Amino acid sequence: MAFDVVIAGGGPGGSICAAQLAKRGVSALVLEKAHHPRFHLGESLLPQSMPVLKDIGIFDDIHTRFIVKRGANFHESGTLKQARYDFAEAFDRSTTFAFEVPRDEFDDILFRHAKTCGADMREGWKVDRIDCSDAENGGPVRVVATDEKDASHTFECRLAIDATGRDAITAHEKRATEKVPELDKTAVFSMWQDAWRDTGDREGDIQIIVFGTGDETGWFWSIPFKDGRTSVGAVLASTWIKRRKKSATTIPELYALAISESPAMQRIVRGATQIMPARAMADFSYRVRDLAGPGWIAVGDAGGFIDPLFSTGAHLAMYGGFHAANKIADVLATGRNPRPEDFTEWSALMRKGAELFLGSVQAFYRGSLTPYLFADDQHPFLRRAITSMLAGDVFTGHDRWVREMQTRFPAILSS
Ligand SMILES: Cc1cc2nc3c(=O)[nH]c(=O)nc-3n(C[C@H](O)[C@H](O)[C@H](O)COP(=O)(O)OP(=O)(O)OC[C@H]3O[C@@H](n4cnc5c(N)ncnc54)[C@H](O)[C@@H]3O)c2cc1C
Repeated sequence: MAFDVVIAGGGPGGSICAAQLAKRGVSALVLEKAHHPRFHLGESLLPQSMPVLKDIGIFDDIHTRFIVKRGANFHESGTLKQARYDFAEAFDRSTTFAFEVPRDEFDDILFRHAKTCGADMREGWKVDRIDCSDAENGGPVRVVATDEKDASHTFECRLAIDATGRDAITAHEKRATEKVPELDKTAVFSMWQDAWRDTGDREGDIQIIVFGTGDETGWFWSIPFKDGRTSVGAVLASTWIKRRKKSATTIPELYALAISESPAMQRIVRGATQIMPARAMADFSYRVRDLAGPGWIAVGDAGGFIDPLFSTGAHLAMYGGFHAANKIADVLATGRNPRPEDFTEWSALMRKGAELFLGSVQAFYRGSLTPYLFADDQHPFLRRAITSMLAGDVFTGHDRWVREMQTRFPAILSS
């Protein structure tokens, strides 16, 4: 076999997995259908992803290129009340900052870095099918892909990784995706030049503006980049959109209307210039039945996606990709092909982290999280626990804060 592992998709999940596999001496091929740099959502990173960037040897480069994010600042849209969470107050203070990254540049860097590490990275290659029919009997996995000249190729390998993001090719083929109840939201987003941002150490904070109540609850993100641009998007409830059908039907109209209804958001874009036509993405949350099967695993969004309120998607993809790579390298070192049961622990860890984020997102839309976020007399434990979640400490934080939080504040973090 030419490759031990073939990875479909060269986003953060695929590229980080490939980099780590190559560093561990495993031959890996990544087939990415697009060409980097390409636009992508998912620009706000979390501190708990930083160890992964350090371990694959790209952290210093990232640090020099992108703006440092030290916290998350929530705004109540109408009252303009603010509540800032500084990552330095999290339970785990080993990593107290992250970065805000235009994803075209960030993904390009990760992709090229994986190549430097020794992975075979190909752009303009679309994976059509991952055929695992012989894998159960110890046979090879076949990955069928089309190159840029429209020629079809088949690559044999010991394990295929679906890192195709929301395309989730294995889950869709198996009809194994399901929508998450009550998360039928639509994101409308654009880019601005010279929007308001905080100053000094807080310049790189993500601003999260919450608005509406009941079935109209929604939120905005405002993510500042180093070059003066700011990514501004709104996550809107379907009922919010339906009730405004008469005044806004197109995406740019919806986007402008959402901003015009929010005093806090208007303050952020006042005097700034919108430099990209508004775009939309609907109904983005889904679960996937399995993260591993005979001959394949799914990493990142290909294994499910949660509403991005807490900027969690890239963290789950990078953390998952990195730890999957280590597991694969361990198994291959024993001389045999990976089996589904090799990934039981990894899958459980990924699920546990994702479900924690999901529980808090659902608490937000139910209305039970917001009063705690903005409380004047916030309990110190609660403050640190919320900060830890915002930092992405959902994989190893169970002994530090998760269990206690689930006991003391079940309304906002269910078990
Ligand atoms: C509205 C919104 C806002 C978000 N904001 C944030 C945020 O602030 N922070 C955050 O961390 N996350 C955020 N996310 C989530 C984030 O975008 C994703 O979770 C993250 O990009 C997942 O990485 P990935 O590597 O799994 O997938 P992707 O980054 O989607 O990469 C998948 C790659 O696979 C390629 N591909 C797809 N199909 C094929 C195929 N058949 N063959 C070959 N290649 C293929 C694609 O071209 C792509 O490059 C947001 C998401 C949404 C919808």
